[in-house]
Amino acid sequence: MKIMSINAGSSSLKFSLFDMDTNDVLVSGLFERIGIEGSCYTIKNSEFKIKQEAVLNNHADAVKILLDKLIELKIINSLEELDGIGHRVVHGGDKYTDSVVVSDQVVEDIIRFSDYAPLHNPAHAVCIKAFREVLPNTPMTVVFDTAFHQTMEKDRFLYPVPYEWYENYQVRKYGAHGTSHRYVSKKVSEVLVKDDLRIIVCHLGNGSSITAVKDGKCVDTSMGFTPLAGVVMGTRSGDIDVSLVPYVMEKEGKSVGEIMDALNKKSGFLGVSKLSSDSRDIEDAIKEGNEQAILAQKMFVNSVVKYISQYYVEMGGCDVLAFTAGIGENSISTRAEIVEQLACLGIKLDVEANNVRGELTCISSKDSNSLVYLVPTNEELMIAMDTLALIK
Ligand code: ADP
Repeated sequence: MKIMSINAGSSSLKFSLFDMDTNDVLVSGLFERIGIEGSCYTIKNSEFKIKQEAVLNNHADAVKILLDKLIELKIINSLEELDGIGHRVVHGGDKYTDSVVVSDQVVEDIIRFSDYAPLHNPAHAVCIKAFREVLPNTPMTVVFDTAFHQTMEKDRFLYPVPYEWYENYQVRKYGAHGTSHRYVSKKVSEVLVKDDLRIIVCHLGNGSSITAVKDGKCVDTSMGFTPLAGVVMGTRSGDIDVSLVPYVMEKEGKSVGEIMDALNKKSGFLGVSKLSSDSRDIEDAIKEGNEQAILAQKMFVNSVVKYISQYYVEMGGCDVLAFTAGIGENSISTRAEIVEQLACLGIKLDVEANNVRGELTCISSKDSNSLVYLVPTNEELMIAMDTLALIK
């Protein structure tokens, strides 16, 4: 069976086509700058890579070229060979606790939840509509990034604010990266052949979040009402005292929008280091003794450790600490710095085993109280697997 997973952004469309018998990627690619000058696409697999400019006025243009190319490149002989299409959707509000088959109602809801994810949900809806128009008979599903976090109890997902804010406007913690947290915790369970585990998943990338997973269910997560909350990120501040918003507004004569923009796009690694949002640049600058970079890295590590220790206590211990995403999978030094601070919990790394990037590996020492794993995330495969399960 062949299933395609789709991740549409406001001006992009990422895709991966899977052979579900082997879980191999047959072809993948990216359509960029949709609706903007200079649009282009890349399609690749282990045998070829095509990069081409193209007129992409909207997502429908990208969908048409993508499907034509799949046939032209003989990846499939006809569109009937596509058994299903799974769409990643950032926000499912508090309605969707699982992945679902696409219907008019689902598309309507995705649009309705745009308030919570204004950059993403409208683009997802446009893209789903474009696919449904060209492939009206192909089964399609939606995999929500918030769904995995819907198992949190009320005392974990509520903010201590006037209760009417929740009742009237659904102000609460929704979390993010749910598909990644679900994939990684599931993978850990498979590897250890055990379901009743307390796992702390550290998804550390440009955006980062930490999730406490007990018996396969999310019990708490670091991102909040929006993906601005939680740990220090590439350009996002993570948790702050909200009082600084009106304070800086007044000092600098700025609007709420401008301050929110600074908290989302000019903070985190970038804001503190004054250098870059990319952890590789931070690591390079640290080697040269750059004080701001050293400070940014310390603040990032502190914030991650704070959540790990909180979730350790919340779950009454931790069987497995799992690192994933760009930094979690690749930054040997960041993993070491984080685990070093967990020594009082008896969590220890095996220095040699930790000398690894992007491969499923147990990196804890033999005498560590918790296992520590590096687990490469694969949100695309998770989406395809959900789609397969739903259409079967
Ligand atoms: P997102 O999906 O949130 O955009 P990623 O999961 O791709 O982000 O992670 C991007 C981050 O991962 C960047 O900060 C980048 O520097 C970091 N990263 C990627 N490769 C490496 C590496 N080899 N060493 C250290 N950090 C890396």
